[in-house]
Amino acid sequence: MEIAEGLHAFIWKNPQANNTNTYLITGSKNILVDPGHLQLFDHVRTGLARLNLSPDRIDAVLLTHGHVDHMEAMPLFRKPTLLAMSREASQFIRECGGDDRFAPDFFLGEGNLRIGDISLDILLTPGHSPGSICLYWPDRKALFTGDVIFSQSIGRTDLPGGSGKLLKESIQRLVKLDVEYLLSGHGGPVIGKKAVRDNFRMVADCWFSYLEGD
Ligand SMILES: [Zn+2]
Repeated sequence: MEIAEGLHAFIWKNPQANNTNTYLITGSKNILVDPGHLQLFDHVRTGLARLNLSPDRIDAVLLTHGHVDHMEAMPLFRKPTLLAMSREASQFIRECGGDDRFAPDFFLGEGNLRIGDISLDILLTPGHSPGSICLYWPDRKALFTGDVIFSQSIGRTDLPGGSGKLLKESIQRLVKLDVEYLLSGHGGPVIGKKAVRDNFRMVADCWFSYLEGD
């Protein structure tokens, strides 16, 4: 589905297959966020084909974090496509047995990232997984949250390297952004400033006391 100009979402609809939503940002370059599971990649391939694109037309693949359901399809991308993730996420993937096929071409750190005419802000938002990042695209007021926050829910903190305290702090950073589209790794998008604000409020009311005790 097209969320906004140059912003496409390949939303996963089958809850039996735990795949991740993949997002495509197009401008003078094509950027893919979280390619998902390897065996379920046809979902993305089909979505790209509808836009007359294919994996070899993707200039950069950006990972929100190192969980297998977000990153397993990375090795399908060949040079000159560039792969990027945070340094901590790369370490985490190595610790989990990931080999050189998952090695990034560059690391994503806190701050601005420019690819062609697309400018993204990288926010380090740990708590769900080591080195989790969120991507904010100011031109569209779009926030790609990975598994930090979803529509009406938050990421798990019971997996290796998870921390409720850090996740709460990360979400509190996100609340301050001007967001029109909240695009998470699982579930549907939250669209509209009011809906995004309400979602943050609901998450704070329902989950923050739980996270404080975690
Ligand atoms: Zn995850």
